[in-house]
Amino acid sequence: MGFKEARAEKKEIRLNEKYMRMAIKEAAKAGKGKEVPIGCVIVHDGKVIARAHNRRNKDKSVLSHAELLAINEACGRLKDWRLEECTMYVTLEPCQMCAGAIVQARIPKVVIGAMNPKAGCAGSIINLLQMDRFNHQVDIQTGVCVEECSALLSEFFEKLREEKKLYREEVASEMVTDESEE
Ligand SMILES: [Zn+2]
Repeated sequence: MGFKEARAEKKEIRLNEKYMRMAIKEAAKAGKGKEVPIGCVIVHDGKVIARAHNRRNKDKSVLSHAELLAINEACGRLKDWRLEECTMYVTLEPCQMCAGAIVQARIPKVVIGAMNPKAGCAGSIINLLQMDRFNHQVDIQTGVCVEECSALLSEFFEKLREEKKLYREEVASEMVTDESEE
């Protein structure tokens, strides 16, 4: 690799991490609101034009995934349903619905933090982003800030399990009290 290529690659790594950290910040907002912490940022022409986090519970809508909300915002900003010069940064591998929207919006590149072996559709279960028979294929970059993205998710689920356990213990202790009152 020549000097120029090496420099360009370094710059890309730096930018990937910069925008992924923004997506992580978004994800953290979701986690605070008891949503699964997933965040997404869309960049156009070196500018962030959309940022969103998962709000499925808050909106009571299965459509409120971070990626779809960000796509919607980006389309509004660019006044176009095509996002042909945009890059998406997302903390977790997209599901089938979001991967479908990414292809439909013709987003050329998606940068992914953590993979999702149980539901991911950018290579884990299926790779909807790179199917020859669709009219659009997406460049995928995985493993960007993967530790941070995964840590956010595992801490969230750990806390959830902890809360459930506390709740069960509380219910159990109340049941004991009830019995003793009888
Ligand atoms: Zn999704």
